Amino acid sequence: MQQLNLFHSAAPGKPPLVVAYGMGVDSTAMLVGLHQRGIRPDLILFADTGGEKPDTYLYSPIIRQWLRDVDFPDLQVVRYIPPIAPYDTLYGNCWSNFTLPSLAFRKKGCSIKWKRMPQDRVVEHWLPAQDCWGSGGRVRKLIGFEAGEERRRYADRGDDPQYDYWYPLMDWELDREACKRLIADANLPVPVKSACFYCPACKKPELAELAAEHPDLHACALALEGRYRAGKHFRGDDPDKVQGLGIRYTWADQARHSGHLALA
Ligand code: SF4
Repeated sequence: MQQLNLFHSAAPGKPPLVVAYGMGVDSTAMLVGLHQRGIRPDLILFADTGGEKPDTYLYSPIIRQWLRDVDFPDLQVVRYIPPIAPYDTLYGNCWSNFTLPSLAFRKKGCSIKWKRMPQDRVVEHWLPAQDCWGSGGRVRKLIGFEAGEERRRYADRGDDPQYDYWYPLMDWELDREACKRLIADANLPVPVKSACFYCPACKKPELAELAAEHPDLHACALALEGRYRAGKHFRGDDPDKVQGLGIRYTWADQARHSGHLALA
């Protein structure tokens, strides 16, 4: 993990701008769009769950070079470190507890614990944020939800005393295809969709891609699913209960149906 420069300054009199960067299409387009509009963020944070896709990790030096080229702050990689636990990744967290990422149970605990909290903790120790809060202001947090994703706005956080949330892609009316074009026009490769390789939100074509391109990771995901099904949280083969990483179905069954059985 990089050392955060706690003395990096925000523009005087303006709320500090913090980018929640996911290293995927939307948030990369958000950075490009900010640069086009002459808006320089003060802090760019990427929360690493330890289980991002390999292509996501490979994108890190690319975007860091671009950030240098456009005189944006460097990417700060943050990570949740449990005080006392036999794991330091979300995968390890699930493995230890014979469970799945909480998204499988239609909860947001995995992203709150492994994405949002480590970022917020860093901001809490960042002097421009402390100054801002000390003078009664709110830090502006930029989230890369694209146009059409309005339902994902943090409707429940309108009265957050620390953060004012901004969704630039919605204001700029940039959907996913427009985001890809913007990135390509900036001479950057278009990154893969960012997510943990075992994310329950993965679609079936993405599973097939994982099995084909990263059979080792696919096997790890199936092992996690198998462990969940052998553990106390599994409620049996009732399709109304969570069956596996596919929620209503198992990734193992999907692998069998799609011919990736040998990899399962
Ligand atoms: S990518 Fe999926 S599994 Fe990983 S933290 Fe986000 S919701 Fe959870």
